[in-house]
Amino acid sequence: MKSKDTLKHAGKRKQLVDVLVKKGIKNKEVLSAISKIPRHLFMDSGFDDHAYQDKAFPIGADQTISQPYTVAFQTELLEVKRGDQVLEIGTGSGYQTAVLCELGIKVYSIERQRELFKKTKLFLPKLGYSPKHLSFGDGYKGLEQYAPYKGIIVTAGAPYVPKPLMAQLAIGGRLVIPVGDDPQIMTLFIRKNDTQFEKHEFGEFRFVPLLENKN
Ligand code: SAH
Repeated sequence: MKSKDTLKHAGKRKQLVDVLVKKGIKNKEVLSAISKIPRHLFMDSGFDDHAYQDKAFPIGADQTISQPYTVAFQTELLEVKRGDQVLEIGTGSGYQTAVLCELGIKVYSIERQRELFKKTKLFLPKLGYSPKHLSFGDGYKGLEQYAPYKGIIVTAGAPYVPKPLMAQLAIGGRLVIPVGDDPQIMTLFIRKNDTQFEKHEFGEFRFVPLLENKN
């Protein structure tokens, strides 16, 4: 049985939000989403003490739930608004997915590990989160059938920028992707028109790798 969400957890979330503010996160909606989402329920029970530290944590199948600061930073960079379509690569625990749902985003998300995909697909609705579509597959290919997206967020380290993700971005849309081997450089691409993208870099982050060709 999963443990419940309590006032004690809410108190710890408030402290986490204070830490994120100190680290430079400004977007009020993002901070409010983090103050609401019971992150401890996205991890195996027994790890309550770790859930509200600003740290990544193992979630099984050799994967991790991203560090809250990283989730907040990437979400802030997306600059999306209620009703926008966003594609997430690497559903994992579904925590980032839940943050986007809290913002009123129409979320499409892809995961390549079958167990994680199945587990998260069952779990998110239990917390009241309804992403538009959760897909089992290879994020390198994106999800063409629902393109274009106002935002694409990649939550694993990409050795290079997959072309289909650039192609599936709406004009004016933003792709947030950590690029490189360990560590990665957080990179933002803004689509200017059919052929031109503006590129911005935001320093080093560490992610599990975006893996190819399992399916
Ligand atoms: N957003 C997640 C982060 C999980 S870590 C969260 O908030 O918990 C990155 C995830 O990317 C892992 O679950 C991993 O299995 C997945 N992944 C790795 N390569 C992938 C690929 N090619 N396509 C889709 N998902 C991938």
